[in-house]
Amino acid sequence: MELNLDTGKLIVFVAGLLIFLGLETIAPARPHIHRLRRIGFHGGVAVLNTVTIRLFAYVPFLLWLVHVEEEGWGISRWLGLVGWAEILLSLVVLDFFDYLWHRANHRVRWLWRFHKAHHADTAMDVTTALRFHPGELLISAGIKALWVVIWGPTVVAWFLFEALVSFCAQFHHSNIDFPDWIERWLAWFIVTPRFHASHHAVDRRTGNANFSTIFSLWDVIFTSYARPPGRTARRSEPLGLPEARALAFSALAWIDEPFRRRNLEIDNR
Ligand SMILES: [Zn+2]
Repeated sequence: MELNLDTGKLIVFVAGLLIFLGLETIAPARPHIHRLRRIGFHGGVAVLNTVTIRLFAYVPFLLWLVHVEEEGWGISRWLGLVGWAEILLSLVVLDFFDYLWHRANHRVRWLWRFHKAHHADTAMDVTTALRFHPGELLISAGIKALWVVIWGPTVVAWFLFEALVSFCAQFHHSNIDFPDWIERWLAWFIVTPRFHASHHAVDRRTGNANFSTIFSLWDVIFTSYARPPGRTARRSEPLGLPEARALAFSALAWIDEPFRRRNLEIDNR
């Protein structure tokens, strides 16, 4: 069953990539810059990350997931949740954990050293969703093992959550220009491209906000919501970290940056 779920996740990933690549070609919010170079670089990052995770984290994580379900550990099990109720509630609770984790990545200095690789991108499109430092993903895998034992999602719920996170991340990083009314309506429920572009803004007043991944309500509840600029202002909104411009497309500098003594300390708090 795990194999089918894994294939399903891959299909969702490829479909999302193609759908959003297509939509941002038809209706871009900002002009595309160095598009082929971006696809090449971020595609390379994705391959490196997939190999790293498959080598070091995938099998132990899967065994852990199955073991926790078999033992019946976690809050969801104690509450006796089953079927769709378990799946839906697991999606909400795991997304909440993800929100807290994303905030920690901005708040805790050594975590930020890794997460910065994602934010060093000076533009934003669907390929930005592939741009994560392998170190961040490995640390995340450890943290997610903790979420699993705390909440106790079923294996099915976990795979659905992962597929949804990947699809939503592709969506909200994409460079799609929606009319104001669609953006505003969607943003009531889920994280939209404009909502998340604010999180990548050079202006850290809005950059230190809008941490949600799937559901937008966490930022509202925990007062980390910043209203994104309107459609026209957004076209020229500077994105990324100007201090880390050198990291944008240099593979080597990008990989070893978190470990350097003289790390580019960017005040992000
Ligand atoms: Zn972030």
